[in-house]
Amino acid sequence: MAKEMNFKQELVGCFGFPVAENPTQAMIEPAFDDLGLEWRYLTLEVTPENLKDAVLGARAFGFKGFNCTIPHKVEVIKYLDGLGSSAELMGAVNCVVNREGQLIGENTDGKGFVSCLKKISDLENKSCIIFGAGGAARAISVEMALSGCSNITIVNRSRNRAEELIDILNGKVNECCSQDISAQMVEWTDTYDVPEDTDYVINATSIGLYPDVNAKINVNMASINSSMIVADVIPNPPKTHLINDAKERGCTVIDGLEMLVGQGVIGIEYWTGKTPSSKIMRESLEKIFG
Ligand code: NDP
Repeated sequence: MAKEMNFKQELVGCFGFPVAENPTQAMIEPAFDDLGLEWRYLTLEVTPENLKDAVLGARAFGFKGFNCTIPHKVEVIKYLDGLGSSAELMGAVNCVVNREGQLIGENTDGKGFVSCLKKISDLENKSCIIFGAGGAARAISVEMALSGCSNITIVNRSRNRAEELIDILNGKVNECCSQDISAQMVEWTDTYDVPEDTDYVINATSIGLYPDVNAKINVNMASINSSMIVADVIPNPPKTHLINDAKERGCTVIDGLEMLVGQGVIGIEYWTGKTPSSKIMRESLEKIFG
């Protein structure tokens, strides 16, 4: 019998501005291929004034979902039908999921990071230092707390942003956790010494991102010991100074590509109900970033 023909592909994508350098498509489409799914991931340049129409367009085209990146992660919320619980706590969405016609906002940035960390460590009652207080730091710190981390220090250049995050962590996030959370901020004015009893050291700033690849975070590397797990959110280049220096000191490391893959896996699971190969996704990114 002749095979049934189907030229209609399911659609997902990424809305951002600018978006041309976002590599997510190159990671997601090989994973769809491997799963035998005829799905497309479109990289779509959406200016802020067109965001509302873009979301309407996604509804009209029957998108299964879409990622949101800078500058849409907060703004998109008002065009959605609901939020997942951690996106609600963070007030930011990076992954929209079409659940029976309802567009629901999720945040997979922190979940992706934590899924990488959980492969090598149990987060319960651990202590972490996070550099940065922007979107990535917010997503990571909230998910770390929801996964059992009890002591979180936010080290940030600007005081206001860090204080806002500390209030969220000690307030509504603490209420959702079974453990007590102690979150505090450090104003980052000088070289930072990592306290000896720290379990995780995470760069969640944009320091080191291409093209500023020689930039280093202002931390005393001698205060980082080999029992600490060191992570960097920077995907391009993945081998940042922090990652290289931490490896030299004998630390286990998580680079920005792992986090990117981690959140991509969760996005595909949300959209398709299937678990993709993280190996294929990582290899696709390595072909690009080395
Ligand atoms: P934001 O703009 O929201 O936050 C940037 C943070 O970096 C702020 O805390 C800012 O401090 C700090 N920062 C920037 N430059 C400096 C500097 N020179 N000195 C000290 N602090 C500095 O960005 P996001 O949080 O959204 O993104 C941060 C990084 O995370 C980006 O590079 C992005 O590519 C990466 N990312 C990676 C993901 C992955 O999957 N690998 C996912 C999401 C993000 P201040 O508040 O003082 O301005």
